[in-house]
Amino acid sequence: MQATQERRTEILMPDAVRQYVLERRDFQRLLDLLIQRGYEVLGPTLRDGAIVYDVVKSLSDFPVGWTDEQQAGHYRVRRRNDEALFGYTVGPQSWKKYLHPAEVRLLTAERTGQTFRILNNEPAPSRRALLGVRACELAAITLQDRILQGDRYRDPIYAARRQGVFIVAVNCTQAAPTCFCTSMGTGPRVRGGYDLVLTELVGPGKHEFVIEAGSDAGAEVLADLAPEPSVATETVRQEAAAAVEHATSQIQRRLDTTGIRDLLYEGFDHPRWDNVAQRCLTCANCTMVCPTCFCTTVEDVSDVTGTHAERWRKWDSCFTQNFSYIHGGSIRSSVKSRYRQWMTHKLAFWIDQFGASGCVGCGRCITWCPVGIDITEEVRAIRESPASSKKGNHGKP
Ligand code: SF4
Ligand code: SF4
Repeated sequence: MQATQERRTEILMPDAVRQYVLERRDFQRLLDLLIQRGYEVLGPTLRDGAIVYDVVKSLSDFPVGWTDEQQAGHYRVRRRNDEALFGYTVGPQSWKKYLHPAEVRLLTAERTGQTFRILNNEPAPSRRALLGVRACELAAITLQDRILQGDRYRDPIYAARRQGVFIVAVNCTQAAPTCFCTSMGTGPRVRGGYDLVLTELVGPGKHEFVIEAGSDAGAEVLADLAPEPSVATETVRQEAAAAVEHATSQIQRRLDTTGIRDLLYEGFDHPRWDNVAQRCLTCANCTMVCPTCFCTTVEDVSDVTGTHAERWRKWDSCFTQNFSYIHGGSIRSSVKSRYRQWMTHKLAFWIDQFGASGCVGCGRCITWCPVGIDITEEVRAIRESPASSKKGNHGKP
């Protein structure tokens, strides 16, 4: 008992960044501990041929021994030759499905005679732990924190869901060909904003996690883990660092962000927008899978008797014609204007609005674009032939 107390003090006080080793056979203990602490634990699962986030209660819920193959317009899962729990990169879903959900009922109204009453909103969400958050995804959550609760306007729905979330991040030890987090300065190593961070080490005769706390809440969970994880030796720490370095070395895709804001503002009339418009289907997949896109619309629906009505908030996309509908019509009626709006907002307007790029380099929009349009390639094309048409419009659609 005394030894446990001493260790807890050691973790919480002098050296919160000390790394420990959690054996694979003890991983369930971490899950159990989070559940015992009242968290609904959400993590990676394998469903319908993709790795998606869902409730996880035991290791059998994880995509054990599965990985993903990604290219522009291509995604497949396939078996690995080991039993890794986090041996994939990112799937079609991001954590925004929990923090900024696709559909939220804002209110319900019921009519009785000539009066109506507004019923209570949805109950507060459960306390959640997000398990398996990648560096790029954590960067996306940080951006959405800024926009949806830290900026001029606070979204109470996001704030209620975000409050008390416990984040277990995972350093990437492999990258997909679509990843370009290194260009956006977001990964593959997790830099902050987590409660615990794991690095998975799988090899002949060994399967373990190097685990480190990033907050007091994380340190408390670490201190309560039993059996007590051992302190990572220098050799193990170096192995973990090398595994993340391996992921870094795999990342070949680049997005040159030098002067990108001005490049896109000045390239407003670049012929490349016509080129991409011939390929883009305006399906909106890219905005749906993007972990930072946050636009929504509001819809009212009622039953046929007119006694019950509901107001819903739903994800919207700048790729739809209705998105820019104002009195008299849509101001972005062409495909060209909609693709340009999306990319220029992500990579230029965001810098003015929020002081940061709207892209974290996760690569999802590349993978899930049915025609394989690649945001990095589109930027490169504009950069390599800086248009003769440098009219610039600085924010107008
Ligand atoms: S860029 Fe691709 S994913 Fe995005 S709207 Fe166009 S076709 Fe769909
Ligand atoms: S724009 Fe594409 S690569 Fe960038 S964060 Fe969104 S989905 Fe990921």
